[in-house]
Amino acid sequence: MLNLAGQPRARLGSWPTPLEECPRLSAALGGPHLWVKRDDLTGLALGGNKVRKLEYLLGAAIRRGADTIITTGGPQSNHARLTAAACRRLGLDVTLVLSGFSEGPLTAFQGNLLLDHLFGARVITLEDDSDEAVEAALAEEVANLTRRGRRPYIIPLGGSNAVGNLGYVGASLEIAAQAAAEGVDFDHVFVTTGSGGTHAGLHLGLAGYMPRTRVHGVTISREPVASAARVAAMAGETAALLGLDPEATPPPLVHGGYVGDGYAVPTPAGWEAILLAARTEGLVLDPVYTGKALSGLIGLIREGTFPPTSTILFVHTGGAPGLMAQAEGLRDHLGESRRETRLEPGNGGSPP
Ligand SMILES: *Cc1c(COP(=O)(O)O)cnc(C)c1O
Repeated sequence: MLNLAGQPRARLGSWPTPLEECPRLSAALGGPHLWVKRDDLTGLALGGNKVRKLEYLLGAAIRRGADTIITTGGPQSNHARLTAAACRRLGLDVTLVLSGFSEGPLTAFQGNLLLDHLFGARVITLEDDSDEAVEAALAEEVANLTRRGRRPYIIPLGGSNAVGNLGYVGASLEIAAQAAAEGVDFDHVFVTTGSGGTHAGLHLGLAGYMPRTRVHGVTISREPVASAARVAAMAGETAALLGLDPEATPPPLVHGGYVGDGYAVPTPAGWEAILLAARTEGLVLDPVYTGKALSGLIGLIREGTFPPTSTILFVHTGGAPGLMAQAEGLRDHLGESRRETRLEPGNGGSPP
């Protein structure tokens, strides 16, 4: 069975995160019973899924004697922000290589980028976002640090590798225990599939702890076939790290059709999902990851994929700082529907 006990782990988050029912969202969709796993509330620096991965990644880095962590992502990377905060908590230095740094809303001093500087990370920006350019920048930073007698440790994009994915094997056990305590039996679990480690960890973990439950990813970047292949490969590597048969898990399921014009480019359906979750349940989703993932779940519900009696868990992986960085997009989407009344002398602010 799955046993995480021997794995080095740094304590960073607050566990367990809440498991909450979403009756108003379920009613609004006229369908299945929806629940949410609040991994936006993982406790560190505005929260999110990367905290679970970083507990294992930084546990491994510390065991190796590392004193400086290097990682990479886009200008509004939640993973980079949480890596910076986690390093501060553990007394480590941190360099962030942020690629795709061109003019536009995502490179404004807002959201995650603001927080990266708040935590005092060394930020290296690259206009180019090709793998080659990023690899070269990472290698150069490793060489710089090593020359100065430092001991660098690289965490990959999104914290997704066999070690990081252990965080979501652990989350699977947490979900299984909470579901049992609540007396709820999930037919399906939905998660965002980005770099894929969260999905891979849940795929492996829930196959062990809740074998009747089907795990679904909604891709927010790669094509679904490529995304599923990546998740399968990572689930295998994670299984191997735990001494299990890497071939034993079934193929992962990734839904496509919700990316829109590209990674980090908001979609109308994503904005609609964000507004629905906010206005029915007071949840804060984001336009890059969780909004698109929920738009996928909503799309499948509207196509009649799940009977109204089914019970579905949506894993909220965080991302709220990324919403702040896309304020203009949200304002444009809301347009004239914003409910805003300026209090003028005489009108008493009475509703229209
Ligand atoms: C990174 C991230 C994801 C995707 O997780 P992966 O493990 O990279 O697939 C989903 N939601 C948010 C908010 C994230 O920051």
